[in-house]
Amino acid sequence: MGSNLSIFKIGVGPSSSHTVGPMLAGNLFCELIHPQLEVIERVKIELYGSLSLTGKGHLTDLACILGLNGIKAQELTPSLKEEVLNFAMQEHKIKLASSKEISFFYEEDVVFYKDFLPLHENGMRLSAYSKDGKLICQQVYYSIGGGFIATEEELQAPAKKENVSTLQIDFSSAKDLLELCEKYQKSVAEISMEFEKQFHTQEDIEAYCLEIWKAMQESYRNGCEPTSSVLPGSLKLKRRAPELFKKHTSTTSDPLALVDSVSLYAIAIAEENGAGGKVVTAPTNGACAVVPAVLLYLEEQLKERFNSKVVIDFLLTAMAIGSLYKKNASISGAEAGCQAEIGSASSMAAGAMAMIMGATPAQVCSAAEIAMEHHLGLTCDPVAGLVQIPCIERNAFGAIKAISAARMAMSRESDPKVGLDEVILTMYQTGKDMDLKYKETSLGGLAKTFGSVC
Ligand code: SF4
Repeated sequence: MGSNLSIFKIGVGPSSSHTVGPMLAGNLFCELIHPQLEVIERVKIELYGSLSLTGKGHLTDLACILGLNGIKAQELTPSLKEEVLNFAMQEHKIKLASSKEISFFYEEDVVFYKDFLPLHENGMRLSAYSKDGKLICQQVYYSIGGGFIATEEELQAPAKKENVSTLQIDFSSAKDLLELCEKYQKSVAEISMEFEKQFHTQEDIEAYCLEIWKAMQESYRNGCEPTSSVLPGSLKLKRRAPELFKKHTSTTSDPLALVDSVSLYAIAIAEENGAGGKVVTAPTNGACAVVPAVLLYLEEQLKERFNSKVVIDFLLTAMAIGSLYKKNASISGAEAGCQAEIGSASSMAAGAMAMIMGATPAQVCSAAEIAMEHHLGLTCDPVAGLVQIPCIERNAFGAIKAISAARMAMSRESDPKVGLDEVILTMYQTGKDMDLKYKETSLGGLAKTFGSVC
């Protein structure tokens, strides 16, 4: 249980669980096999559960190949990606751990299984063999959401969770967070900063937040002016952000134009993710546009009052709330449905917006609670296994609900009946009860009915 900064990570689309995580698993496997690299002549990628069922649409196979080449997400450029994948698919070779060229035959070395590994819906096994086919090293990884990876051993070590924290400022529930705010007479953003200062300097934390904001702005700009007008994949979905952007810049007297602005921000970033572009996990790639759309909305609203401090406080609040979902429930669509992705993102954005608008810590938690309460039960059913339909528009609705939730929490005069901790637990239990068809497998919901009714 360390810093929460990694709730926001710069990565490549379209999915934190299906591309960012598996690419990282490939990187970790490279480190693991490094001492035996000389004798390794072959590697095998085995994908299970959701990583297999929607793996091709989500580009999981390609992310693993990139990871096994020792390439980190931050270093990836479109040309490097093309070069490495062409080498693997056409020359049948990979440069294992960036240093050893070995043969690679996609049809034999990448295997998709319909069944699930026992500990999580997103399982994968990486194996390395010698020239004579002897197994040299094997590791099972689980992509547990938000681009985070865990081995079998890490997932089977619940005792660690029970360790009493030695940190002076620590919170694992909204109740803890509110008690800390009360005890130190600080805001949620300030407590989040104090928490982070136990791992990094204040200067580094602020610089990290501003770098994340810069990457969010960049993904918005790229989404408005993309190099291709159509998203990759079988749906051949036309990108809508460029047209929305043109309309947005022209003057209008439409009183609901603000709603269109929020939709534009979210759609531009979510389309950039769907195209496999660079985005920020917030807390996941599928839901990467909700938090920045609300922050872009605040930039438009606050005008000259919008500054670096607003950005830092907003992101610190959002990450504190996001950490509660990560610790106590899930931020993975494959584990708990879309409520865990768009719902968590909306909850983070709602609390963060309330914080910036001057809410008390209790109102911040109430805003976060309201946003999640009205995402409960939301299934994950991406059409054709692509992070496009319903994902792109869903980001826009997540952002709009976050803004509504923040305003609702702040205008309320009575005490809310449901607390943030209760709704987080409800989301998790609902996710566990949800049929696998609705957890990023593309076996149910819109993914199944799409195109079936003329
Ligand atoms: S439906 Fe939601 S959880 Fe599923 S891939 Fe799309 S955004 Fe992610």
